[in-house]
Amino acid sequence: MAKVYRREKDEAGQWKYVRVNLGAGRRAAAAPPYYLRYMEDGRRKLSQPYPTFEAVREAYLAFQKRAQLPKQRDAAERISIRDAVDVYLEQKANKRPRTVRAYHQYLNQFAELCGVHYLDEISVEIMRAYKVALEKLPQRGGRIGLAPATIDTRVNIVNFMLKKNKIEARVPADEMPTVAAEKANPFTEPEIKKLLAAMDSEDKLLYSFFLGTGCRDQEVRFAAWKDIDFEKETFRVTRKPDAGFVPKNHEERTMRLPHSVIALLKQASKSKKSERWIFADEHGQPKDHFLRNLKYIALRAGMNCGHCKTTLTIGHGKYKKQVAVTCATHPVCEHFYLHRLRATCATRWSTPHGKVQAVPVRTIQDWLGHKNLETTMIYLGVISTDALSASVNAAYGD
Ligand SMILES: [Zn+2]
Repeated sequence: MAKVYRREKDEAGQWKYVRVNLGAGRRAAAAPPYYLRYMEDGRRKLSQPYPTFEAVREAYLAFQKRAQLPKQRDAAERISIRDAVDVYLEQKANKRPRTVRAYHQYLNQFAELCGVHYLDEISVEIMRAYKVALEKLPQRGGRIGLAPATIDTRVNIVNFMLKKNKIEARVPADEMPTVAAEKANPFTEPEIKKLLAAMDSEDKLLYSFFLGTGCRDQEVRFAAWKDIDFEKETFRVTRKPDAGFVPKNHEERTMRLPHSVIALLKQASKSKKSERWIFADEHGQPKDHFLRNLKYIALRAGMNCGHCKTTLTIGHGKYKKQVAVTCATHPVCEHFYLHRLRATCATRWSTPHGKVQAVPVRTIQDWLGHKNLETTMIYLGVISTDALSASVNAAYGD
């Protein structure tokens, strides 16, 4: 049996818990926060604080429902969360390896954090507590809590698994962290020029490839020489299951490359580090750290905004310590990330150049590998007003 309490100071200034009545139709008389008090393994426990009367009421009802479940159902027919996770992962085994790894990690983490054992014990309240747990999860560099978008993704993955099991326990949307829709944030042409000027020839090939293909991080990482058609000047994103790479949505696609990028590739093909991979490390394996590298280039180019703050762990063993740094001196500027190269490519494709027509948006959708046209539209930056003045005048008849 659970009861609802709130905390208040008595005349002597001591905190005490005061019972709150929760009858049907009753409203909260006193100010939050509220607490749930209940018995567990013979001990009295107090819940986390709830910010509203509705929240505590819902938690209370969920608790009562849970308390009755074992009596109603035979333990043998109940499904443990661990089993449900295993079954779900099996069903999803044909997804991309990265996706499967992520599902594996996040669903098992949920099983660990959620605090209940059986699938039928999962309620909105449990999902809410899971969300709060993610908000408090210690991160590398001493930060606390995952980013809003990350929390949103992880809660959704659990929701998918629950839906498959016909369990509806969504945390209301207004309680979820607000995730700003990913707006296009292409680099400007002068910015691109400055970045490229700060690169050596190897980096220039790599980031020109990002800019010329609009490919995603992993698509560039697993780009192979045989995916390039030097005659037709195209690049094809192909699956390489042996290397653990499958394109998103399982879709292979081909896009046209600019002459200059083809020229850089031809040049590089004369001194290959790997027979297979275009961007290989000294061991002939697909290269990594494209993002970190870009941040170093931005710092070197003097393009960091100077205001981004973060904590880095420096040193080893007993010399290990946390230091606060800014992007004025360190390669940590948040304004430089790989997706901006993809957005820049999409924006260039969609922008008419002189008398030359823009690439049709359906084609851009295909080249970027987007399932929905809407996603493509978000990628395309808003063209500056100056560039459009001729179109506006012509449309008006001026
Ligand atoms: Zn910055």
